[in-house]
Amino acid sequence: MKNITVIGSGTMGNGIAHVLAQYNFSVSLYDINEAALEKALLTIGKNLDRQIDKGKLPSSQKQSILGKIQTYTSLEESLKTADMVIEATTENEELKLNLFRQMDQACPAHCLLATNTSSISITKIASVTSRPGKVIGMHFMNPVPIMPLVEVISGYGTTKDTLSTVMSLAKNLGKSPVMVNDYPGFIANRILMPMINEAIYSLYEGVAGVEEIDQVMKMGMAHPMGPLQLADFIGLDVCLFILKVMQSGFGNPKYAPCPLLVNMVAAGSTGAKAGEGFYTYSPNSKELIVSPRFRRQ
Ligand code: NAD
Repeated sequence: MKNITVIGSGTMGNGIAHVLAQYNFSVSLYDINEAALEKALLTIGKNLDRQIDKGKLPSSQKQSILGKIQTYTSLEESLKTADMVIEATTENEELKLNLFRQMDQACPAHCLLATNTSSISITKIASVTSRPGKVIGMHFMNPVPIMPLVEVISGYGTTKDTLSTVMSLAKNLGKSPVMVNDYPGFIANRILMPMINEAIYSLYEGVAGVEEIDQVMKMGMAHPMGPLQLADFIGLDVCLFILKVMQSGFGNPKYAPCPLLVNMVAAGSTGAKAGEGFYTYSPNSKELIVSPRFRRQ
């Protein structure tokens, strides 16, 4: 496997392209938005500088890594020589199903098709292609260059060959892959999202304030970040979407999102990217400040 196409150059796509290029793959990076591609290259450059400053990468390698990434705004062009595709576009089922139909048409017959989806069924995505055996989930964690975990998710029809190729690829990228079967939320989000939802319920019911809830999990359970801060970092809209997928996928009300989460997303308070969630965020400050709405009088 030499040529890998990454579809979508946002938060996850640029991280995946970065790691692939660092480990010597030729990367074709495609996005519908030209500005997103330019931003992705800048972000990758900055993140490489950070690795160099920390002594984790020789500075001489920066240009050769960046030189391995070619950007495209034409899907067909980006897929012509692909041995594998990793899709990392917005978490929207219709969008991904459409893209997989087009990718299936445009990719060489041997090409594997992976998705970085957090919650959408791999089996459903595979079902719109003519090669369900070659479709698989490759769920990287954010930030991709730093986090070692990759959930490798087999759909109903994913073959053993595809699974072993993708497990080897993840190991060759210095990651620690874990094999998972295709059920709503996979493993990471199935365990994480109910915890975040319960933390939001604790705030909603007035059991404790934002800082106290996060402090209990940091100081008592050795979590590096409290669940409310983590929810802000992931994006409250993303948390809500994943909880709804699990609620409908399992038909179990225990996954029903807390009404406070639903309200915050409707109001646009979606966490760090929006500048406000449980905490407030400004580009010039790293200090964690509780949102005025949740401050104790
Ligand atoms: P993002 O919004 O940062 O980036 C999405 C990118 O997709 C954008 O650059 C957008 O222009 C592009 N895009 C949208 N429609 C497209 C199309 N039709 N063709 C090509 N490009 C298109 O999103 P993200 O946070 O990087 O998430 C991407 C995927 O990764 C989602 O499936 C998400 O669930 C998953 N994921 C996200 C995280 C996270 O913490 N952000 C973690 C694990 C998995």
